[in-house]
Amino acid sequence: MLNVPIVTVATIAIEGSADRFPVRRIFCVGQNYAEHAREMGADPDRAPPFFFTKPADAVVSSGTTLPFPPRTEDLHHEVELVVALATGGSNLPIKDAIASVFGWTVGIDLTRRDMQAAAKKAGRPWDMAKGFDASAPVGPLLIGAPPKTGTIELDINGERRQSGNLSDMIWSVAEIIATLSTYVALAPGDLIFTGTPAGVGAIRPGETVTGSICNSVKIEVSF
Ligand code: MN
Repeated sequence: MLNVPIVTVATIAIEGSADRFPVRRIFCVGQNYAEHAREMGADPDRAPPFFFTKPADAVVSSGTTLPFPPRTEDLHHEVELVVALATGGSNLPIKDAIASVFGWTVGIDLTRRDMQAAAKKAGRPWDMAKGFDASAPVGPLLIGAPPKTGTIELDINGERRQSGNLSDMIWSVAEIIATLSTYVALAPGDLIFTGTPAGVGAIRPGETVTGSICNSVKIEVSF
């Protein structure tokens, strides 16, 4: 008998329910708003979306105080629309993609930007820059399809740092799901972070970060 505990599946709160959403995997889209692509030194165009991942147990609930992540002096916030899938499949047509969504919320794609810059320069993977412990704070899920338009905002200690509109996404949620399903067979429990608007910047120890979408979902974490 091995003395290794069975891992507990990470879960997310569901608005208006005592049930929780079980997280299977976390996929993220890079540079899905033109202004953010420009601020990262890239040229925004309709080149197909690209993806990276975080471990499922990187999710953190709203209201949590987190230890400041190790091995970075440039921890960045990226506020994002997050969708949670109830069903999956491969090669999903764009017209059927939204039917796979269980619900949506706001999340923060925490990024060790200094580590990511070094990885980009060396042509190395982003995993340790993006997929570290507690790197995926997410708010409670609202059941249903995500909005296509509306505000997406992030504050640090009450001061606005990111402000965008979901209508400025280069690739829609349906297009993202359809494209991702050509790379992997999507499955119930998968989360997708859909990219951040402009205004990314550093979080310092002691600060409180608040993200919201359409004033209807909210995430707040402190360091
Ligand atoms: Mn991101």
